[in-house]
Amino acid sequence: MRIDLHTHSAVSDGTDAPADLVRAAERAGLDVIALTDHDTMDGIAEAVATGEEVGVHVVAGMEVSTRFRGRSVHLLAYGADITHPGLAAELTHIRAGRDDRLGPVLAKLAELGVPVTREQVMTQVGGSPSIGRPHIADALVAAGHVADRTEAFDRYLADGGPAHVPRYAVELTRGIDLVREAGGVTVLAHPWGRSTGEVMTPDVIRMLAYEHHLDGIEVDHQDHDAAAREQLRTLAGDLGLLPTGSSDHHGLGKVDHELGCNTTDPDVYAELMGRLKRS
Ligand code: AMP
Ligand code: FE
Ligand code: FE
Ligand code: ZN
Repeated sequence: MRIDLHTHSAVSDGTDAPADLVRAAERAGLDVIALTDHDTMDGIAEAVATGEEVGVHVVAGMEVSTRFRGRSVHLLAYGADITHPGLAAELTHIRAGRDDRLGPVLAKLAELGVPVTREQVMTQVGGSPSIGRPHIADALVAAGHVADRTEAFDRYLADGGPAHVPRYAVELTRGIDLVREAGGVTVLAHPWGRSTGEVMTPDVIRMLAYEHHLDGIEVDHQDHDAAAREQLRTLAGDLGLLPTGSSDHHGLGKVDHELGCNTTDPDVYAELMGRLKRS
């Protein structure tokens, strides 16, 4: 059984509609995928329906924008009840923060001599309720200012870059607590990836596991080299955390993140799903 627990559709900053993503997963030989769009579960119903047609089990998930010691940290949440009032309110707040950030980013881009309009960005956003920097990057590409998303991030949009503007995100520990209250399970996404690595020390991960019941950490991810994976796998074993693996596929939006490029062990997956039944 091949299981990929972290994928994005065009409902956030991936490029495939949820139905197309699930069809692509079937073609890639996957039996299970979790759709984990940023801060929204709006794509889940379409993905589940297509999954039933083509024989791929779709896990309802999302990737929640959180903050820890000033750093952006991504938290994968599976099986959470999106109608839980506290969780729903936080997600609304986070998505509003994404909207609020757009104006200041566009002002900076204009100052930097690479102007794009709100309308140009919204064309890239399409129907997504979760405006992301990749959409701004796509607008910069469409306007001819940069060649691709990577160049847009490297020159302007990356954390600390000249057009970067921070946005609201929920405190990581509160995010974990809320997802759990909403009946879901939590896995720390790419803990030693880009902006996260410096704050996610083994001590911090232990605190999250012991005091907030974090369920797992994403070990096999393209942001982690072989040494990082080995250390994270050992840490997960020591702390009783479930080690997952996944692609973080974004369609055409991220190179070297093909569906199923990393997968989750079936026993780990079964344990994770088993915990959804707890009350
Ligand atoms: P946002 O959700 O608006 O904060 O943007 C973060 C998203 O941008 C991530 O989920 C990635 O998809 C993408 N991203 C972040 N950093 C980079 C980078 N350096 N190069 C390309 N894509 C990036
Ligand atoms: Fe993304
Ligand atoms: Fe992420
Ligand atoms: Zn992701």
